[in-house]
Amino acid sequence: MGEYHKHAASYLCPNGCGNTAKMTADHIGPISLGFAHRPKFNALCNSCNSTKNNRMSLSDVQQLIQDEQAGEQVVSWHSKPIWDALKGLVESNQDAVKLSRLMATNMQQVLPILAEVYEQTGSEYLTRYLRPEYAFQDHRFTGFHPLEPEKLVTITKPLDSKNKQKNAERYVRISFEELERFTSKTNRRVKSSTSDEVEREVTEVVAAVKAGLNEKADSHLLRALTILAEQAKHSW
Ligand SMILES: [Zn+2]
Repeated sequence: MGEYHKHAASYLCPNGCGNTAKMTADHIGPISLGFAHRPKFNALCNSCNSTKNNRMSLSDVQQLIQDEQAGEQVVSWHSKPIWDALKGLVESNQDAVKLSRLMATNMQQVLPILAEVYEQTGSEYLTRYLRPEYAFQDHRFTGFHPLEPEKLVTITKPLDSKNKQKNAERYVRISFEELERFTSKTNRRVKSSTSDEVEREVTEVVAAVKAGLNEKADSHLLRALTILAEQAKHSW
């Protein structure tokens, strides 16, 4: 995203709004909807980007499906069940907006589940889901042009072990700080909106973690996420 920021030239917005402006980065698969951190962007003018506001278009969803078929991990583990349940139903821009809304709601339901597990069992179990090895590489870009992403060359350089350690620690710390912030803000209110069925699975997750049965906890956590995905599909 920094490359867009550094690139000062103005272009005609590819969205057809008629604006000629400095381009901003529209992340294909917004992180706030549960998608993975990937250097995949479309250029949009600032006005179109803020209007779009984390609502995907049909072409965004098609691009994500295509990247996934090519072997990329496009969605985070906690949002994979809902993505897998609904991505095949998207046939129009309107459907893509509906998917965006349901995935945003899903995130609001997943976070209190993770916050509850964290509150009751600490950070050790959940750290296994964080994959800090993703923070072990440094990315550099050459040939950046906002309207020609295909010309971008990404140079990935592994960090030395001291920086690896530092990055991994920072990543884990920030993740749990976010969870704590979320817990203090909204946990009580949102918690009541998930079903008894989900609550039972979460209780099983906590019990399994406390008993040292991480794999059993994993399967109950996946079950909770799958119930949420089924509920979302039901409301489609
Ligand atoms: Zn525009």
